[in-house]
Amino acid sequence: MVGEVQTLVKVLNLEIKNNYQDKAVTGGFKNFRAFIEKLSQDSGLSPDVLEEIGDSFKKYEDLKREEREQIVFNLLGLLNSQIASKITNTDSSLNSGTIHKQQKDSTLLSNQDPALYAGIQSISGIGQKNSRLFNKLDINTVYQLLRYYPRRYQDFSQLKPINKLELGDELTIIGTLSQGIQSRKSKNNRLTISTTNITDRTGTLRVIWFNQPFLAKLLHQGVSIVISGKIDVYLGRLVMNNPEWELLDVEQLHTNRIVPIYPLTAGLTQRQMRKIINRNLNFWTKRVKEYLPDQIIIEEELIPISEAIAEIHFPKNEDRLTLAKKRFAFEEIFFLQLGVFFQKRDWIKESAIKIPLASDDLSRVTASLPYELTRAQLNAISEISVDLESGSPMNRLLQGDVGSGKTVVARIAIEAIIQNGFQTAMLAPTSILAEQHFNTLSNLLISAESANQNEVALLTGSTSKKERFTILDKLADGSIKVIVGTHAILEDTVVFNNLQLAIIDEQHRFGVEQRNLLKKKGKTPHLLVMTATPIPRSLALTIYGDLDVSVIDEMPLGRLPVQTQLLAPRDREQAYSMIRSQIISGFQAFIVYPMIDDAEEEEFTAVVNEHERLSRKVFPDLKIGLLHGKLRPVEKNNVMESFRNRELDILVSTTVIEVGMDIPNATIVLIEGANHFGLAQLHQIRGRVGRNSEKSCCLLIPDNDSDIENERLNAMVKTNDGFILADFDLKQRGPGEFLGTRQSGYVPLRFANITDISMIERCRNHAQRIFNSDPGFIKQEYNLLYHELSLHWPQININ
Ligand code: ADP
Ligand code: MG
Repeated sequence: MVGEVQTLVKVLNLEIKNNYQDKAVTGGFKNFRAFIEKLSQDSGLSPDVLEEIGDSFKKYEDLKREEREQIVFNLLGLLNSQIASKITNTDSSLNSGTIHKQQKDSTLLSNQDPALYAGIQSISGIGQKNSRLFNKLDINTVYQLLRYYPRRYQDFSQLKPINKLELGDELTIIGTLSQGIQSRKSKNNRLTISTTNITDRTGTLRVIWFNQPFLAKLLHQGVSIVISGKIDVYLGRLVMNNPEWELLDVEQLHTNRIVPIYPLTAGLTQRQMRKIINRNLNFWTKRVKEYLPDQIIIEEELIPISEAIAEIHFPKNEDRLTLAKKRFAFEEIFFLQLGVFFQKRDWIKESAIKIPLASDDLSRVTASLPYELTRAQLNAISEISVDLESGSPMNRLLQGDVGSGKTVVARIAIEAIIQNGFQTAMLAPTSILAEQHFNTLSNLLISAESANQNEVALLTGSTSKKERFTILDKLADGSIKVIVGTHAILEDTVVFNNLQLAIIDEQHRFGVEQRNLLKKKGKTPHLLVMTATPIPRSLALTIYGDLDVSVIDEMPLGRLPVQTQLLAPRDREQAYSMIRSQIISGFQAFIVYPMIDDAEEEEFTAVVNEHERLSRKVFPDLKIGLLHGKLRPVEKNNVMESFRNRELDILVSTTVIEVGMDIPNATIVLIEGANHFGLAQLHQIRGRVGRNSEKSCCLLIPDNDSDIENERLNAMVKTNDGFILADFDLKQRGPGEFLGTRQSGYVPLRFANITDISMIERCRNHAQRIFNSDPGFIKQEYNLLYHELSLHWPQININ
């Protein structure tokens, strides 16, 4: 049957190409009707469909052009759905009988019209050739075309009379060509310049098009035309360059409205894209069934999906566009959250060893610390101990601003593991950070008599072969209790005796893959990941939805906020004298240089030269160390050690010190080329100081004096709050950096504002409710919803 129906589809497409002149079939469609009727017995089409086709063809020749267009679209839609449903039903055609029929009917009700997923070639205006262009844009089905959203809009809905025009206006003008188009070549012969004047009752405007010589044939003196574009000035006169235009008597797609602008590919123009989408929009959007549950639609005051799709392409007005965007913003976060729950479905079944933290041990450890734990640290600790004792593997994110004291929280979790006779692995992104953690943890563990020197080890890429062998042996036989390291601990040869706790520091530096690799070193070990990336809690809950979250929202007692100053390059001397006075008072300083354009070589030369200059000319009497990415790990560690031991006054460094470095005696950091850094990064670097009870400061010097006005850098001066800065960064640079590799595979967020906490929380609640009521994702009533979910998460396979 499919062959004949496809012939029909072809004929209809031909009719579209012929502009509905009833010439696709010799003698007109009324003749074709007879042909169809003859074939009706074995065409496989249902009687009502056949009847509709017959009727349509009978009246076709008497219809007006628009009516013919409507008929052709109707028929194409009908045929598409017939083809698609035939294809999808062939698999099950063996089980016949009444039960099967009933099942089929009910799934039809709870599924989208299969025609929506038919290839785009079946769409009017898309043929063999240009379908390839659409495929390039990842538009393979009708539904994908509907969900191919404009990149932005141009609001040409403002109409003005010519005498009210102002420079810079973006608007629409209706008028008459007061002369034909005149075309000439530009001086260098590269451009064709076509000009004309457009007049309305109030005045005349000069209009110029570049490289559109064909316009002379299309537009003549006296035609009424609608043009949209931006008002410019040329030789003292207002003009409009390269406006979009349409004849006044056709439906306006490109002018006089909010005009969509689509991402395109070579060979496809805006005008074509708009035309194809507009032509098909009405017909197809009506066929998209609502997939969000009624309760959500009502509570969130969302417009129906069919309207949202229509309005996102050709909005009637600004308000309707806002409503469409609101619906899609909601969907993005909601499906993100629902998908995360879907993933969670798999691991909640796992069980883990119960590992209690005895209160005696806790008090012994806290008593050995040189400070009191903060309330926030204690909360995190108690949440972690509940997890460890629960019998299910802990999956916890510990979030806290730079310097809030995450390491010691991890240390206390480690205590429970040691006391129960198991092993811990801690992964850090750089070897200097691994080394620092190794030192900190060894000290803390030894001073509390929780472990001895031989039970704590460091494994990085630069660990000697011999030492490595010993470590691997002792890990395998269980005599090493805690191992700290870089990626080196993820290698296959690293085998644990019984790993029960996996800790990842600065987890945003790692991907999900590494997290999984580390987990696989044990059976179902408890997992603790730590980050200073300041994202709103509700968002953390969403994007790390498979993790539970503890937040350290409080700094250790007695910390003073770091004073931040923005200095012009010419005031560098002032920065140097501030550094000097800190050093005279017995403190230390960082001077940090940026990495520009990944030019590692230049970065290296710049920092080496600066080190040289500072040592000779600026601070000849002080001891200045140099740290950069090209040093061997041993050299790096030596420099860090000297700085830590106060053998150096100043550490000149590239961003290798960015994460995690903890040198409490450093009270001042100067960041050169500050304009090259993102806010999150600046905040991290600033977090290297302010780690004791002294007053600390951070000096920012951008490359140019003019950058003093830089809004971003000023945000650093105004606040020390990582959340506020993250917010600012998000608004300026979008969520990409935060979602990062973590959610790779998930369709990126286009509409949602991830700083809209209240919306995120509501999404989460809705998703949670659905997940609770149907944790297996099997309820028939959510069929449409789950199907849509699988489109948002291509890697999810919902039966
Ligand atoms: P981060 O959260 O950035 O990883 P660290 O764990 O490196 O922070 O801790 C920062 C500094 O604060 C360290 O020098 C640590 O010893 C100190 N510290 C941690 N907790 C407290 C506390 N409750 N009171 C005082 N100092 C603390
Ligand atoms: Mg840290």
